[in-house]
Amino acid sequence: MTNEEIKTQVDIMQKEREACTAEIDRLKKLCTHDKYELGYYSWRIGSCDIKKICAYCGEILGDPEFEEGREFSKKNNFSAGNI
Ligand SMILES: [Zn+2]
Repeated sequence: MTNEEIKTQVDIMQKEREACTAEIDRLKKLCTHDKYELGYYSWRIGSCDIKKICAYCGEILGDPEFEEGREFSKKNNFSAGNI
C-alpha cells in the first residue's frame, strides 16, 4: 500500500467517523436516559471522575449523589479529588 493509498483510506474513514459521531449525537438527543450506571469519565488526560452515564446511549448525565459516588469508589478502589 502506498502513502497516497493510505491517505485516501484515512480520508474516507475520517469522513465515516464524523458521520458516525453525528449519528451518535442525534441518537443521544432522542434517548430519554431512563437508566444510568456509574462509570469513569476522563475529561482530560490524567483526570478521571465518576459520572452518571446513560445505560442506553452512553451520554454523560452528571455527577452522582455524594453517597452513591462514595460507594462506587469504595467498591472500585477509586479515589478522586471531589469524592
Ligand atoms: Zn441515553
